[in-house]
Amino acid sequence: MSRFLQQGLAKLIPYIPGEQPKNQAFLKLNTNESPFPPSPKVVEAITASEVDALRLYSDPTAESLVRAIADYYHVGMENVCVGNGSDEILAFAFHAFANRKTGVVFPEITYGFYPVFADFFGIQQRTFPLLQDYSINPEDYLSSDAMVVLANPNAQTGVYLSLTAIENIVKSNPERVVLIDEAYIDFGGESALPLTKIYPNLLVVQTFSKSRSLAGGRIGFAVGSSELISDLQTLRCSFNPYNLNRLSILAGREAIRDTDYFSACTEKIITAREHLKEKLVALNYTFTPSRANFVLAKSPALSGEKLYNALRENGILVRYLGGKLADFVRITIGTLEDVNHLYSILVKIETR
Ligand SMILES: *Cc1c(COP(=O)(O)O)cnc(C)c1O
Repeated sequence: MSRFLQQGLAKLIPYIPGEQPKNQAFLKLNTNESPFPPSPKVVEAITASEVDALRLYSDPTAESLVRAIADYYHVGMENVCVGNGSDEILAFAFHAFANRKTGVVFPEITYGFYPVFADFFGIQQRTFPLLQDYSINPEDYLSSDAMVVLANPNAQTGVYLSLTAIENIVKSNPERVVLIDEAYIDFGGESALPLTKIYPNLLVVQTFSKSRSLAGGRIGFAVGSSELISDLQTLRCSFNPYNLNRLSILAGREAIRDTDYFSACTEKIITAREHLKEKLVALNYTFTPSRANFVLAKSPALSGEKLYNALRENGILVRYLGGKLADFVRITIGTLEDVNHLYSILVKIETR
């Protein structure tokens, strides 16, 4: 730390991303990326002339991407704000909508970035524990005095909260923003996005990082009432109006238009996930009922850390989360072949 760092910032504890090994030696099942490449339409769109055009600034309104998202979800362009990853959108939303006194509330086990954003902006944070079965108790978030932030399906567990429960939370908090982070919604949940037309306090955030194979493209977005979106646009344009680069605007537009490729990829991942669950049952593992592109799994014999290390020695990277989840590892769903390979290694580890 330098002697110039301002007081208050010295206490910041940054978010720790999953390992990104420099070599390709590992089967990488640790950061919920897609095992499939982006749509072939994305590859076609990134031409030499588009690369030449990088000398020019990107479109500060990202119009072609915003239009493609609005068309896909049947909302107006004034209902969409894009970000450099959904992480950036989440940061803007925390900054814009969390009251500095009453703050923000989210589950104790969820996306690890929420507490980091709250600290970054000096926002009070309160958490509620999950229920015994690792589900969110919707009652905890009714008539809240704070901004409500829920990932659905929830991060780390993959557990899905019904749309009815979400709607009740939104309804009971007319004076607070309810942010639903739907990073994993395309793997089997029903999106709350259409409800943004009814509830002016609902903000739905999604990402191209998981279901659209563009984690490295850094594209996220929020959908909400034109009032909420206009506030987000004010923050975005006060911070970095060129937050999406030219190539990402193109890539995102092509990816969301290619609905066939998207469905094929998400269906394959869902099939592989259910296949992994069957294999885990055969191994006497326990796991949460994930509707995401990962499974939070617990070995009958090994701690999460031991299992993480044993898999690593065998060339497979998974995520060890520690803390309240120290018994578990979080396994990203790859291809069916990846799942079968993982299973063969798990058999070897558990029977040695
Ligand atoms: C992966 C993830 C994000 C971040 O997505 P980016 O668009 O890559 O920034 C946000 N929220 C949750 C719950 C996630 O799992």
